[in-house]
Order: sequence, then structure tokens, then C-alpha cells
Amino acid sequence: MTLTLSGHGPAPTLISPECDSPGCSMAGDQYTMVRCRTCGAWFCPRHVASAEAVTLVRTVALELGGLSYYQGSCVPCQQARRQNQH
Ligand SMILES: [Zn+2]
Ligand SMILES: [Zn+2]
Repeated sequence: MTLTLSGHGPAPTLISPECDSPGCSMAGDQYTMVRCRTCGAWFCPRHVASAEAVTLVRTVALELGGLSYYQGSCVPCQQARRQNQH
């Protein structure tokens, strides 16, 4: 059985967020940028806390065409959480 995706439903929505880190103007799409699960801002791979797990999130919102994106944690949020644990 062959699964053909073309011609079925809307094309995947592509968003192009810019990195929220001060002084960084890196821009990409939801497959190259990571959204912080704590503050909701987008960050490029250089400004995402690498020690945090990055997970793929799929929305079910129809108006977004089933948008999926990567969710992780930015460096400031990770440091804030670390300090709270002490
Ligand atoms: Zn954050
Ligand atoms: Zn950046």
C-alpha cells in the first residue's frame, strides 16, 4: 500500500520566527528554531539550552494546518530554574 500525502489537506504551515536572544537576529522556521516552553519565545539552536531535552510538538489547530515545532528551553529560563532548585 502506498501512502500519498500530496493533494490531501492544506500544506504544512511554515512560520519564520526570529531568535529572541538579545543581539541575535538569526531567523529560521519552526524546524530550525526552538520555542522555549517557559517564556514562549523562539531561539536559534545556539541560544537554546543544550542540556535541556528538545521535543517535537504537534498542534491540532486546523487553522495552523497541523503545525509542528520544536520545544525546549532557552538559556535564561534554564538558569532561572537551576537557581530555584538550590
Ligand atoms: Zn525562555
Ligand atoms: Zn540566537
